[in-house]
Amino acid sequence: MEKKKKDKVESDIMTHDQNPYEIVKDLLKESVSRLGLHENIYHLLKKPTRVFEVSIPVRMDDGRIENFTGYRSQHLDILGPTKGGIRFHPAVNLDEVKALSVWMSLKSAIIDLPLGGGKGGVIVDPEKLSERELEVLSRNYIKSITPIIGPQKDIPAPDVNTNPKVMGWMIDEFDQLRGYNIPGMLTGKPVVLGGSLGRLEATGRGVVFTIREACKVLGIDLGEATAAIQGFGNVGSMTAKFLHELGVKIVAVTDAKGGIYKEDGLDIPDLLAFTNKGENYASNYEKAEPINNEEMFALPVDILIPAAVENQITKETAPNIKAKILAEAANGPTTPDGDEILEEKGIFVIPDILCNAGGVTVSYFEWVQNNMNYYWKVDEINQQLEEKMLAGFEKVIKMREEKDCRMRDAAYMVGISHLVKAMDARGWIGEQEKL
Ligand code: GLU
Repeated sequence: MEKKKKDKVESDIMTHDQNPYEIVKDLLKESVSRLGLHENIYHLLKKPTRVFEVSIPVRMDDGRIENFTGYRSQHLDILGPTKGGIRFHPAVNLDEVKALSVWMSLKSAIIDLPLGGGKGGVIVDPEKLSERELEVLSRNYIKSITPIIGPQKDIPAPDVNTNPKVMGWMIDEFDQLRGYNIPGMLTGKPVVLGGSLGRLEATGRGVVFTIREACKVLGIDLGEATAAIQGFGNVGSMTAKFLHELGVKIVAVTDAKGGIYKEDGLDIPDLLAFTNKGENYASNYEKAEPINNEEMFALPVDILIPAAVENQITKETAPNIKAKILAEAANGPTTPDGDEILEEKGIFVIPDILCNAGGVTVSYFEWVQNNMNYYWKVDEINQQLEEKMLAGFEKVIKMREEKDCRMRDAAYMVGISHLVKAMDARGWIGEQEKL
Protein backbone atom coordinates (compact mmCIF):
# COMPACT_ATOMS: atom_id res chain seq x y z
CA MET A 1 0.00 0.00 0.00
CA GLU A 2 2.78 2.42 1.07
CA LYS A 3 4.78 1.54 -2.04
CA LYS A 4 1.79 2.08 -4.30
CA LYS A 5 1.14 5.50 -2.83
CA LYS A 6 4.77 6.54 -3.34
CA ASP A 7 4.73 5.44 -6.99
CA LYS A 8 1.58 7.43 -7.53
CA VAL A 9 3.16 10.62 -6.14
CA GLU A 10 6.26 10.18 -8.30
CA SER A 11 4.25 9.63 -11.42
CA ASP A 12 2.34 12.85 -10.72
CA ILE A 13 5.53 14.91 -10.89
CA MET A 14 5.81 16.24 -14.43
CA THR A 15 9.15 16.08 -16.15
CA HIS A 16 10.40 19.16 -18.01
CA ASP A 17 9.34 17.41 -21.17
CA GLN A 18 5.75 16.96 -19.99
CA ASN A 19 5.27 20.26 -18.18
CA PRO A 20 3.37 22.37 -20.72
CA TYR A 21 4.66 25.62 -19.24
CA GLU A 22 8.30 24.51 -19.59
CA ILE A 23 7.53 23.33 -23.12
CA VAL A 24 5.93 26.63 -24.14
CA LYS A 25 8.77 28.65 -22.61
CA ASP A 26 11.36 26.65 -24.56
CA LEU A 27 9.39 27.14 -27.77
CA LEU A 28 9.02 30.88 -27.14
CA LYS A 29 12.75 31.20 -26.51
CA GLU A 30 13.70 29.28 -29.65
CA SER A 31 11.27 31.23 -31.82
CA VAL A 32 12.44 34.60 -30.49
CA SER A 33 15.99 33.65 -31.38
CA ARG A 34 15.01 32.24 -34.78
CA LEU A 35 13.31 35.57 -35.56
CA GLY A 36 16.60 37.30 -34.78
CA LEU A 37 15.00 39.18 -31.90
CA HIS A 38 16.67 40.13 -28.65
CA GLU A 39 16.28 37.72 -25.73
CA ASN A 40 14.48 40.51 -23.89
CA ILE A 41 11.41 39.76 -26.01
CA TYR A 42 11.40 36.26 -24.57
CA HIS A 43 11.54 37.72 -21.06
CA LEU A 44 8.55 39.93 -21.85
CA LEU A 45 6.57 36.98 -23.17
CA LYS A 46 7.46 34.13 -20.86
CA LYS A 47 5.31 34.96 -17.81
CA PRO A 48 1.59 35.63 -17.56
CA THR A 49 0.90 39.20 -16.41
CA ARG A 50 -1.38 37.92 -13.66
CA VAL A 51 -2.25 34.55 -12.14
CA PHE A 52 -5.01 34.07 -9.64
CA GLU A 53 -5.54 31.06 -7.38
CA VAL A 54 -8.90 30.63 -5.70
CA SER A 55 -10.48 28.28 -3.22
CA ILE A 56 -13.98 27.16 -4.11
CA PRO A 57 -15.93 25.64 -1.24
CA VAL A 58 -18.89 23.52 -2.33
CA ARG A 59 -21.43 21.89 -0.04
CA MET A 60 -21.71 18.38 -1.41
CA ASP A 61 -24.98 16.44 -1.53
CA ASP A 62 -23.99 14.46 1.57
CA GLY A 63 -23.51 17.66 3.62
CA ARG A 64 -19.68 17.68 3.49
CA ILE A 65 -17.90 20.83 2.36
CA GLU A 66 -15.30 20.12 -0.28
CA ASN A 67 -12.89 22.94 -1.04
CA PHE A 68 -11.76 22.85 -4.68
CA THR A 69 -8.80 24.77 -6.09
CA GLY A 70 -9.16 26.89 -9.20
CA TYR A 71 -6.95 29.18 -11.25
CA ARG A 72 -7.16 31.96 -13.81
CA SER A 73 -4.10 33.05 -15.75
CA GLN A 74 -3.99 36.25 -17.80
CA HIS A 75 -0.99 36.13 -20.05
CA LEU A 76 -0.86 39.35 -22.02
CA ASP A 77 -3.48 42.02 -22.71
CA ILE A 78 -1.62 44.25 -25.16
CA LEU A 79 -3.92 43.40 -28.08
CA GLY A 80 -7.16 43.52 -26.12
CA PRO A 81 -8.84 41.90 -23.10
CA THR A 82 -7.50 38.46 -22.25
CA LYS A 83 -9.67 35.58 -23.46
CA GLY A 84 -9.77 31.84 -23.01
CA GLY A 85 -11.68 28.88 -21.68
CA ILE A 86 -12.23 27.31 -18.28
CA ARG A 87 -11.51 23.60 -17.87
CA PHE A 88 -12.75 21.22 -15.21
CA HIS A 89 -10.32 18.32 -14.99
CA PRO A 90 -8.52 16.36 -12.25
CA ALA A 91 -5.13 17.01 -13.91
CA VAL A 92 -5.49 20.83 -13.92
CA ASN A 93 -2.51 22.54 -12.33
CA LEU A 94 -1.06 26.03 -12.27
CA ASP A 95 1.65 25.41 -14.86
CA GLU A 96 -0.87 23.88 -17.24
CA VAL A 97 -3.19 26.89 -16.92
CA LYS A 98 -0.26 29.28 -17.44
CA ALA A 99 0.82 27.43 -20.58
CA LEU A 100 -2.74 27.37 -21.90
CA SER A 101 -2.96 31.14 -21.42
CA VAL A 102 0.24 31.69 -23.42
CA TRP A 103 -1.18 29.52 -26.21
CA MET A 104 -4.33 31.65 -26.22
CA SER A 105 -2.21 34.82 -26.75
CA LEU A 106 -0.47 33.17 -29.68
CA LYS A 107 -3.74 31.90 -31.21
CA SER A 108 -5.33 35.35 -31.11
CA ALA A 109 -2.17 36.91 -32.53
CA ILE A 110 -2.00 34.42 -35.44
CA ILE A 111 -5.68 34.96 -36.32
CA ASP A 112 -5.31 38.71 -35.79
CA LEU A 113 -8.00 39.02 -33.13
CA PRO A 114 -7.96 42.07 -30.84
CA LEU A 115 -7.66 39.82 -27.79
CA GLY A 116 -5.02 38.59 -25.38
CA GLY A 117 -4.55 35.16 -23.84
CA GLY A 118 -6.23 33.87 -20.70
CA LYS A 119 -7.20 30.51 -19.27
CA GLY A 120 -8.85 29.10 -16.20
CA GLY A 121 -9.22 25.73 -14.61
CA VAL A 122 -10.53 23.88 -11.59
CA ILE A 123 -9.00 20.69 -10.21
CA VAL A 124 -12.03 18.43 -10.24
CA ASP A 125 -13.35 15.30 -11.85
CA PRO A 126 -16.79 16.49 -12.99
CA GLU A 127 -17.86 12.86 -13.56
CA LYS A 128 -17.89 12.45 -9.78
CA LEU A 129 -20.22 15.41 -9.17
CA SER A 130 -23.98 15.46 -9.19
CA GLU A 131 -25.68 18.04 -11.41
CA ARG A 132 -26.36 20.23 -8.37
CA GLU A 133 -22.74 20.01 -7.18
CA LEU A 134 -21.51 20.91 -10.67
CA GLU A 135 -23.78 23.93 -10.78
CA VAL A 136 -22.65 25.17 -7.36
CA LEU A 137 -19.00 24.67 -8.34
CA SER A 138 -19.50 26.58 -11.61
CA ARG A 139 -21.27 29.46 -9.87
CA ASN A 140 -18.74 29.63 -7.02
CA TYR A 141 -15.75 29.51 -9.35
CA ILE A 142 -16.98 32.46 -11.44
CA LYS A 143 -17.86 34.34 -8.23
CA SER A 144 -14.33 33.83 -6.95
CA ILE A 145 -12.69 35.21 -10.11
CA THR A 146 -15.20 38.06 -10.51
CA PRO A 147 -12.72 40.77 -9.42
CA ILE A 148 -10.44 40.06 -12.38
CA ILE A 149 -12.89 39.29 -15.22
CA GLY A 150 -15.29 41.37 -17.32
CA PRO A 151 -16.03 42.17 -20.96
CA GLN A 152 -13.15 44.65 -21.23
CA LYS A 153 -10.79 42.75 -18.91
CA ASP A 154 -10.83 38.99 -19.34
CA ILE A 155 -13.51 36.94 -21.07
CA PRO A 156 -13.90 33.24 -20.18
CA ALA A 157 -15.37 30.51 -22.43
CA PRO A 158 -15.78 26.72 -22.44
CA ASP A 159 -12.85 24.31 -22.54
CA VAL A 160 -12.39 20.66 -21.54
CA ASN A 161 -15.52 19.43 -19.63
CA THR A 162 -17.33 22.78 -19.69
CA ASN A 163 -20.12 23.62 -22.13
CA PRO A 164 -22.94 26.13 -22.85
CA LYS A 165 -24.93 24.84 -19.86
CA VAL A 166 -22.02 25.61 -17.50
CA MET A 167 -21.58 29.00 -19.21
CA GLY A 168 -25.31 29.68 -18.59
CA TRP A 169 -24.89 29.12 -14.83
CA MET A 170 -21.76 31.26 -14.79
CA ILE A 171 -23.26 34.22 -16.63
CA ASP A 172 -26.34 34.07 -14.41
CA GLU A 173 -24.14 34.25 -11.31
CA PHE A 174 -22.08 37.12 -12.74
CA ASP A 175 -25.17 39.11 -13.83
CA GLN A 176 -26.72 38.66 -10.39
CA LEU A 177 -23.55 39.87 -8.69
CA ARG A 178 -23.24 42.92 -10.94
CA GLY A 179 -26.99 43.63 -10.85
CA TYR A 180 -27.47 43.90 -14.61
CA ASN A 181 -27.13 41.82 -17.77
CA ILE A 182 -23.60 41.68 -19.24
CA PRO A 183 -23.64 39.16 -22.10
CA GLY A 184 -20.10 39.98 -23.29
CA MET A 185 -18.52 38.80 -20.03
CA LEU A 186 -18.12 35.27 -21.36
CA THR A 187 -18.61 33.40 -24.63
CA GLY A 188 -19.85 29.98 -25.61
CA LYS A 189 -23.17 30.82 -23.92
CA PRO A 190 -26.48 29.25 -24.82
CA VAL A 191 -27.79 31.11 -27.91
CA VAL A 192 -30.87 32.34 -26.01
CA LEU A 193 -28.55 34.23 -23.61
CA GLY A 194 -26.58 35.93 -26.39
CA GLY A 195 -24.44 33.02 -27.53
CA SER A 196 -23.34 33.07 -31.14
CA LEU A 197 -24.74 30.81 -33.79
CA GLY A 198 -21.94 28.53 -34.96
CA ARG A 199 -19.90 28.74 -31.73
CA LEU A 200 -20.56 25.15 -30.70
CA GLU A 201 -19.28 23.87 -34.05
CA ALA A 202 -16.55 26.50 -34.45
CA THR A 203 -13.45 24.71 -33.17
CA GLY A 204 -14.16 21.53 -35.17
CA ARG A 205 -15.09 23.55 -38.24
CA GLY A 206 -11.82 25.49 -37.95
CA VAL A 207 -9.82 22.27 -37.50
CA VAL A 208 -11.32 20.95 -40.72
CA PHE A 209 -10.52 24.16 -42.64
CA THR A 210 -6.86 23.74 -41.69
CA ILE A 211 -6.91 20.04 -42.63
CA ARG A 212 -8.42 20.93 -46.00
CA GLU A 213 -5.62 23.45 -46.61
CA ALA A 214 -2.94 21.01 -45.48
CA CYS A 215 -4.33 18.42 -47.91
CA LYS A 216 -3.98 20.97 -50.71
CA VAL A 217 -0.34 21.55 -49.75
CA LEU A 218 0.37 17.80 -49.72
CA GLY A 219 -1.78 16.92 -52.72
CA ILE A 220 -4.10 14.64 -50.73
CA ASP A 221 -7.60 14.10 -52.14
CA LEU A 222 -10.03 14.46 -49.21
CA GLY A 223 -12.54 12.15 -50.88
CA GLU A 224 -9.94 9.35 -50.77
CA ALA A 225 -8.54 10.19 -47.33
CA THR A 226 -8.88 8.32 -44.03
CA ALA A 227 -8.72 9.72 -40.50
CA ALA A 228 -8.64 8.70 -36.83
CA ILE A 229 -9.63 10.94 -33.92
CA GLN A 230 -8.59 10.80 -30.27
CA GLY A 231 -11.36 12.34 -28.17
CA PHE A 232 -15.06 12.67 -28.94
CA GLY A 233 -16.02 15.69 -26.88
CA ASN A 234 -17.18 18.90 -28.54
CA VAL A 235 -14.06 19.33 -30.69
CA GLY A 236 -13.53 15.68 -31.67
CA SER A 237 -17.18 15.09 -32.55
CA MET A 238 -17.55 18.30 -34.59
CA THR A 239 -14.30 17.57 -36.41
CA ALA A 240 -15.68 14.11 -37.26
CA LYS A 241 -18.92 15.65 -38.51
CA PHE A 242 -17.27 18.15 -40.87
CA LEU A 243 -14.58 15.74 -42.11
CA HIS A 244 -17.29 13.21 -42.89
CA GLU A 245 -19.19 15.87 -44.83
CA LEU A 246 -16.08 16.39 -46.96
CA GLY A 247 -15.98 12.69 -47.76
CA VAL A 248 -13.17 11.66 -45.40
CA LYS A 249 -13.49 8.11 -44.09
CA ILE A 250 -13.13 8.14 -40.29
CA VAL A 251 -12.01 4.67 -39.29
CA ALA A 252 -11.44 5.11 -35.55
CA VAL A 253 -12.45 7.26 -32.62
CA THR A 254 -11.28 6.92 -29.02
CA ASP A 255 -12.33 8.61 -25.78
CA ALA A 256 -11.50 8.47 -22.07
CA LYS A 257 -13.14 5.03 -21.71
CA GLY A 258 -11.98 3.23 -24.87
CA GLY A 259 -12.35 3.38 -28.62
CA ILE A 260 -14.11 2.07 -31.72
CA TYR A 261 -12.78 1.00 -35.11
CA LYS A 262 -14.30 0.18 -38.48
CA GLU A 263 -12.09 -0.45 -41.46
CA ASP A 264 -14.73 0.70 -43.98
CA GLY A 265 -15.33 3.90 -42.04
CA LEU A 266 -17.62 4.63 -39.08
CA ASP A 267 -21.14 5.83 -39.80
CA ILE A 268 -20.53 9.30 -38.34
CA PRO A 269 -24.13 10.65 -38.50
CA ASP A 270 -25.30 7.48 -36.69
CA LEU A 271 -22.49 7.81 -34.11
CA LEU A 272 -23.36 11.48 -33.54
CA ALA A 273 -27.02 10.59 -33.09
CA PHE A 274 -25.91 7.96 -30.54
CA THR A 275 -23.82 10.44 -28.49
CA ASN A 276 -26.43 13.20 -28.85
CA LYS A 277 -28.99 10.93 -27.20
CA GLY A 278 -27.23 11.53 -23.88
CA GLU A 279 -24.60 8.80 -24.29
CA ASN A 280 -21.35 10.34 -22.97
CA TYR A 281 -18.96 7.89 -24.59
CA ALA A 282 -18.57 7.17 -28.29
CA SER A 283 -16.68 4.04 -27.21
CA ASN A 284 -19.99 2.50 -26.03
CA TYR A 285 -21.20 2.45 -29.64
CA GLU A 286 -21.70 -1.17 -30.55
CA LYS A 287 -21.66 -1.13 -34.34
CA ALA A 288 -17.84 -1.23 -34.50
CA GLU A 289 -14.86 -3.14 -33.08
CA PRO A 290 -13.02 -2.02 -29.94
CA ILE A 291 -9.64 -0.29 -30.26
CA ASN A 292 -7.33 1.40 -27.76
CA ASN A 293 -5.38 4.65 -28.09
CA GLU A 294 -2.08 2.97 -28.87
CA GLU A 295 -3.60 0.94 -31.67
CA MET A 296 -5.45 3.98 -32.97
CA PHE A 297 -2.27 6.08 -33.13
CA ALA A 298 -0.60 3.33 -35.18
CA LEU A 299 -3.34 3.04 -37.82
CA PRO A 300 -2.30 3.61 -41.44
CA VAL A 301 -4.57 6.67 -41.84
CA ASP A 302 -3.83 9.89 -43.75
CA ILE A 303 -4.95 12.23 -40.98
CA LEU A 304 -4.52 11.74 -37.25
CA ILE A 305 -6.35 14.14 -34.95
CA PRO A 306 -5.56 14.34 -31.23
CA ALA A 307 -8.62 16.14 -29.81
CA ALA A 308 -8.24 15.35 -26.11
CA VAL A 309 -5.58 16.66 -23.71
CA GLU A 310 -1.82 17.37 -23.54
CA ASN A 311 1.11 15.00 -23.91
CA GLN A 312 -0.38 12.28 -26.10
CA ILE A 313 2.15 12.21 -28.97
CA THR A 314 5.29 11.25 -27.09
CA LYS A 315 8.50 9.35 -27.68
CA GLU A 316 6.47 6.22 -26.96
CA THR A 317 3.54 6.84 -29.31
CA ALA A 318 5.15 8.94 -32.10
CA PRO A 319 7.35 6.13 -33.57
CA ASN A 320 4.23 4.15 -34.52
CA ILE A 321 2.39 6.99 -36.24
CA LYS A 322 1.87 6.42 -39.96
CA ALA A 323 -0.36 9.40 -40.72
CA LYS A 324 0.71 12.05 -43.24
CA ILE A 325 -0.99 14.89 -41.33
CA LEU A 326 -1.20 15.41 -37.58
CA ALA A 327 -3.95 17.96 -36.89
CA GLU A 328 -3.68 19.17 -33.30
CA ALA A 329 -7.27 19.87 -32.35
CA ALA A 330 -6.29 19.60 -28.65
CA ASN A 331 -4.01 22.09 -26.92
CA GLY A 332 -0.47 20.80 -26.40
CA PRO A 333 -0.97 17.17 -27.51
CA THR A 334 2.65 16.70 -28.64
CA THR A 335 5.72 16.63 -26.38
CA PRO A 336 9.08 17.93 -27.69
CA ASP A 337 10.39 14.32 -27.96
CA GLY A 338 7.30 13.36 -29.91
CA ASP A 339 7.76 16.39 -32.15
CA GLU A 340 11.31 15.39 -33.08
CA ILE A 341 10.09 11.98 -34.15
CA LEU A 342 7.26 13.49 -36.22
CA GLU A 343 9.80 15.70 -37.95
CA GLU A 344 12.14 12.79 -38.72
CA LYS A 345 9.19 10.97 -40.23
CA GLY A 346 8.22 13.99 -42.33
CA ILE A 347 4.71 14.19 -40.85
CA PHE A 348 2.97 17.49 -41.62
CA VAL A 349 1.89 18.99 -38.28
CA ILE A 350 -0.91 21.55 -38.07
CA PRO A 351 0.07 23.04 -34.70
CA ASP A 352 -2.57 23.53 -32.00
CA ILE A 353 -2.25 27.32 -31.87
CA LEU A 354 -3.38 27.41 -35.51
CA CYS A 355 -5.43 24.22 -35.83
CA ASN A 356 -7.89 24.81 -32.98
CA ALA A 357 -8.09 28.62 -33.19
CA GLY A 358 -11.60 28.47 -34.69
CA GLY A 359 -13.13 28.32 -31.20
CA VAL A 360 -11.70 31.60 -30.00
CA THR A 361 -12.39 33.15 -33.41
CA VAL A 362 -16.14 32.60 -33.14
CA SER A 363 -15.93 33.52 -29.46
CA TYR A 364 -14.56 36.84 -30.67
CA PHE A 365 -17.55 37.15 -33.05
CA GLU A 366 -19.85 36.35 -30.12
CA TRP A 367 -18.27 39.09 -28.03
CA VAL A 368 -18.55 41.59 -30.91
CA GLN A 369 -22.26 40.71 -31.35
CA ASN A 370 -22.82 41.10 -27.60
CA ASN A 371 -21.10 44.48 -27.59
CA MET A 372 -23.24 45.83 -30.43
CA ASN A 373 -26.33 43.89 -29.34
CA TYR A 374 -27.04 42.79 -32.89
CA TYR A 375 -26.77 39.18 -34.07
CA TRP A 376 -25.49 37.75 -37.33
CA LYS A 377 -26.76 34.84 -39.38
CA VAL A 378 -24.84 31.60 -39.14
CA ASP A 379 -23.66 31.75 -42.77
CA GLU A 380 -21.99 35.07 -42.16
CA ILE A 381 -20.23 33.71 -39.08
CA ASN A 382 -19.02 30.58 -40.85
CA GLN A 383 -17.78 32.57 -43.81
CA GLN A 384 -15.84 34.98 -41.61
CA LEU A 385 -14.44 32.06 -39.63
CA GLU A 386 -13.20 30.50 -42.86
CA GLU A 387 -11.55 33.76 -43.96
CA LYS A 388 -9.78 34.17 -40.63
CA MET A 389 -8.59 30.55 -40.51
CA LEU A 390 -7.30 30.64 -44.07
CA ALA A 391 -5.47 33.91 -43.50
CA GLY A 392 -3.82 32.40 -40.40
CA PHE A 393 -2.90 29.24 -42.27
CA GLU A 394 -1.35 31.21 -45.13
CA LYS A 395 0.74 33.35 -42.80
CA VAL A 396 2.10 30.24 -41.09
CA ILE A 397 2.88 28.50 -44.40
CA LYS A 398 4.66 31.63 -45.65
CA MET A 399 6.74 31.87 -42.47
CA ARG A 400 7.59 28.17 -42.79
CA GLU A 401 8.90 28.75 -46.29
CA GLU A 402 10.77 31.90 -45.33
CA LYS A 403 12.49 30.39 -42.31
CA ASP A 404 12.65 26.81 -43.61
CA CYS A 405 11.33 25.45 -40.31
CA ARG A 406 8.63 23.23 -38.84
CA MET A 407 4.99 24.34 -38.92
CA ARG A 408 5.03 24.66 -35.13
CA ASP A 409 8.01 27.03 -35.14
CA ALA A 410 6.42 29.01 -37.97
CA ALA A 411 3.16 29.39 -36.01
CA TYR A 412 5.05 30.60 -32.94
CA MET A 413 6.99 33.07 -35.06
CA VAL A 414 3.85 34.48 -36.69
CA GLY A 415 2.25 34.92 -33.26
CA ILE A 416 5.34 36.43 -31.64
CA SER A 417 5.97 38.86 -34.55
CA HIS A 418 2.43 40.18 -34.16
CA LEU A 419 2.81 40.60 -30.41
CA VAL A 420 6.15 42.36 -30.90
CA LYS A 421 4.45 44.89 -33.20
CA ALA A 422 1.97 45.65 -30.42
CA MET A 423 4.74 45.93 -27.83
CA ASP A 424 6.60 48.28 -30.12
CA ALA A 425 3.51 50.43 -30.73
CA ARG A 426 3.09 50.69 -26.97
CA GLY A 427 6.68 51.82 -26.55
CA TRP A 428 7.68 48.74 -24.58
CA ILE A 429 10.79 47.96 -26.54
CA GLY A 430 13.90 49.77 -27.71
CA GLU A 431 15.95 49.66 -30.93
CA GLN A 432 17.91 46.59 -29.88
CA GLU A 433 14.79 44.41 -29.61
CA LYS A 434 13.34 45.28 -33.02
CA LEU A 435 12.81 42.96 -35.98
N1 GLU B 1 -11.12 26.85 -24.93
C1 GLU B 1 -10.96 27.19 -26.31
C2 GLU B 1 -9.52 27.24 -26.71
O1 GLU B 1 -8.69 26.60 -26.11
C3 GLU B 1 -11.75 28.44 -26.71
C4 GLU B 1 -11.45 29.69 -25.97
C5 GLU B 1 -12.44 30.81 -26.23
O2 GLU B 1 -13.39 30.60 -26.95
O3 GLU B 1 -12.22 31.90 -25.68
O4 GLU B 1 -9.14 27.83 -27.70
